Amino acid sequence: MLTVQDLHKSYQVGKTTYEVLKGVSLTVEKGEFVAVMGPSGSGKTTLLNCISCYIPADSGSIRLGDTELARLDEEALAKVRNRKLGFVFQDFLLLDGLTVRQNILLPAIIGGAVSGMVENRADQLCEVFGISAIRDKYPAEISGGEKQRTAVARALINHPLLILADEPTGNLDSRSSRAVIRSFEQAKSALEATIFMVTHDSFAASFCDRVVILRDGVVWRTLEKGAAQRSAFQDQLLDAIREMGKE
Ligand code: ADP
Ligand code: MG
Repeated sequence: MLTVQDLHKSYQVGKTTYEVLKGVSLTVEKGEFVAVMGPSGSGKTTLLNCISCYIPADSGSIRLGDTELARLDEEALAKVRNRKLGFVFQDFLLLDGLTVRQNILLPAIIGGAVSGMVENRADQLCEVFGISAIRDKYPAEISGGEKQRTAVARALINHPLLILADEPTGNLDSRSSRAVIRSFEQAKSALEATIFMVTHDSFAASFCDRVVILRDGVVWRTLEKGAAQRSAFQDQLLDAIREMGKE
């Protein structure tokens, strides 16, 4: 589904070059819910922005299905972003002047494909994520958790191959975080979505099938949840993070 191979990215600030990604390789299989963890500044957002095609990598390969993203021109990348990827950001990025339902429909409007079928899908997504009752409200009238669930529904409207989420629970209290993580689990089980989430929150990550830990610009370790309970998996993640701090 998604294969990242030997990805390098540095930023030039004045005369200094900062190497942020120093050869990141990872894969996400269809239907998997994968998290990327790592200390602040470890390059999580940079990695996600490269996969999102927001910033060009210096070298390496990013394959989404059969498509090598590094080889596409701007127009083709815009199509990939609109049709094959869904995005969920830390600060929701809903449009204030649109209702919940209109926000969910936005990627379909941008893609030029709003039909009765798409409108039905928006309503179905509202149901899956428990936001049907608020679908005619505006963002200013709903809670943070409801905003983020709206953002998850919006990310799914075009049937993307992959959902990319950057710290989706970063601005939420623990109850709302839980509701948002539950919406990802529902996206996975009810809609067969594939999700790639950046987070520094071990609680959020403990719901994932697999967690990739970044350090110093490379993948330091990958942990599989397997048959472990969520809380046991969270303990494993916390142990790994402590161990990483000692090295
Ligand atoms: P994370 O999301 O893991 O906190 P980031 O990918 O945002 O990390 O940042 C990794 C490093 O790259 C940080 O040291 C950050 O300051 C630097 N960085 C991020 N974006 C830029 C940029 N546009 N220009 C220069 N440096 C940047
Ligand atoms: Mg970040």
